[in-house]
Amino acid sequence: MKILVTGGAGYIGCHFVQHLLSATEHEVLVLDNLSTGHAAACEWTQLIRMDLADFAAVKSLLKSENFDAVIHFAASSLVAESVALPFFYYYNNTSNTLNLIQSCADAGVGYFIFSSTAAVYGEPEPSRIPITEDGPFNPINPYGRSKLASEWALRDISAASGMKFGILRYFNVCGADRHSHLGESHNPETHLIPLLAKTLLGQRPSFSIFGQDYTTPDGTCIRDYVDVEDLARAHLDVLNYLRAGHNSDTFNCGYGHGYSVQEVIDAMQEAGGKPFPVVSAPRRVGDPPILVADVSKLKQLTGWQPKNDDLIDICRSVLNWEQCSRY
Ligand code: UDP
Repeated sequence: MKILVTGGAGYIGCHFVQHLLSATEHEVLVLDNLSTGHAAACEWTQLIRMDLADFAAVKSLLKSENFDAVIHFAASSLVAESVALPFFYYYNNTSNTLNLIQSCADAGVGYFIFSSTAAVYGEPEPSRIPITEDGPFNPINPYGRSKLASEWALRDISAASGMKFGILRYFNVCGADRHSHLGESHNPETHLIPLLAKTLLGQRPSFSIFGQDYTTPDGTCIRDYVDVEDLARAHLDVLNYLRAGHNSDTFNCGYGHGYSVQEVIDAMQEAGGKPFPVVSAPRRVGDPPILVADVSKLKQLTGWQPKNDDLIDICRSVLNWEQCSRY
């Protein structure tokens, strides 16, 4: 197959490209505007520096290259930023995705894999956890809404064109390539596990827990942390599932069990072999108390089997990456 990976220079996209190159013979091209991605993260394949907002260029690329599949990672994904810049989120995530989907359908692309998010579920009722793919859908911020709107467009355009789709709704993605060639590098960094690693390594004075009065056993929020290498493999498993003749579908991506912020702090301290300063801070707006996926659909239909479901090992991979990151 000839595969286009948008956002292939970003955190999740580059791990997927690495997996694709090591596990298959497919030809892979990366499209990225390098606004948050890193050229060094995809130096093993051809990088086309292009912005998805350049509709004419995107259309022409798809027409000329005859891709069999497009894996669409490129997006903005910070909740707080989406609240401050809603137009940008609808433009960069929804409008650019809408154009990409239609251009793919027009060009006869067979398969479209879309990066969606648990944010489409909003704050689920406790009785709905673990969360299944059928909703309800109540996104509570522009980021979640921009992704849900893209899902709708993808379903409708695929139905009209015959293009098959796989939607992957990510829970909390974490970890780094075990050879330390690839990892997470955001500026500013806002995610829990890289912040803990930076604190342990002395790059930050302390770590702030956002809220210790949630309705959870230790009072801190619970999330389903899924390793980026396992998530990368899920994309190929879904693509292969569609290529085997199965119908388009939507899949939660997590491990199906959660850890509290306090438990992740403990895991990082164990992985690094030393404590670090932790302070209390107020709740962060828009943080639901518990988000845990039901992943039985992904496992049963595609045969996906996680290999890295070990929080301490995940923390170790992030510590290694933080100490020898190349970008
Ligand atoms: N969190 C925290 N302090 C931080 C960053 C994150 O307590 O400095 C908490 C956050 O409130 C949430 C969890 O860690 O409960 C995971 O947050 P992250 O931003 O990594 O992912 P999100 O769940 O927002 O997608």
